[in-house]
Amino acid sequence: MKPNLSLGAGESVVMIDSRQRRYLLTLRAGAEFHTHAGVVGHDEIIGSPAGTEFRSGSGARYIALRPTFTDYVLKMPRGAQVIYPKDLAVMLMVADITADSHVFESGVGSGALSAALLRTGAVVTGYEIRQDFAERAIENVTSICGEQALERYDVQVRDAYESDAYEAVDTASPFDRALLDLPEPWQVVPHLMTVLGSGGIVVAYSPSITQVSRFRKALDGCGGWTMVETVEALHRTWHVQGESVRPDHRMVAHTGFITHARRIAV
Ligand code: SAH
Repeated sequence: MKPNLSLGAGESVVMIDSRQRRYLLTLRAGAEFHTHAGVVGHDEIIGSPAGTEFRSGSGARYIALRPTFTDYVLKMPRGAQVIYPKDLAVMLMVADITADSHVFESGVGSGALSAALLRTGAVVTGYEIRQDFAERAIENVTSICGEQALERYDVQVRDAYESDAYEAVDTASPFDRALLDLPEPWQVVPHLMTVLGSGGIVVAYSPSITQVSRFRKALDGCGGWTMVETVEALHRTWHVQGESVRPDHRMVAHTGFITHARRIAV
């Protein structure tokens, strides 16, 4: 991040229109930003401070800013559905992710959760069953976190439900965090008994409560877990205009449930 420097060629910027819609682009000399409301030349943007307003040929206004993590996640190309920032925030906190964390993640999908983990400095091993998603995740992580982050990101094309997927894991230095976002997280629980160290934390994201029930049953069934909790992150925005101050009429009512637990010595 270079908050005080001008926007430069090669940098990503998000253009915000008067209706707060966001457009993500990479600045290139000579290129043009086209919308339904006309064109802004990249050369105009290059060299301007972040936060500058531009007008397209037809008079529409756009403010150029450096993208936040949320801008990237909402705009990045996706194969699999991403976890939304409101849920990523909670997952990072309940998993207590820091630069010292040694994380197992599966599935990797589009890499939104991977990028959220990597930007803290954590070391991440990800299992993804689909080669195309694994490649897309690496591309997305590179554009959000930069190439240096790939040194801490090891994506393997593997089926996280199968025991042989874990044969190469060094059980002398097990993972201390496991973040799961796949359809049947309960199938990973038996493997975590060997690859997640005692005291470690598992966090599973599941859209459906029946998935939560099965996951929790798997945790309860093996006696190796404590502090089990399932939470939802409800993100309700407010309309604040003059005397009209109230919750917005519309909100995203549901994304997923977040279940977390700590591994105990058995
Ligand atoms: N958390 C990701 C999205 C994951 S979507 C993000 O934020 O971008 C779920 C992913 O799990 C999909 O990519 C799917 O291919 C993968 N998956 C499903 N079953 C799997 C399995 N058995 N092993 C590994 N990955 C699996």
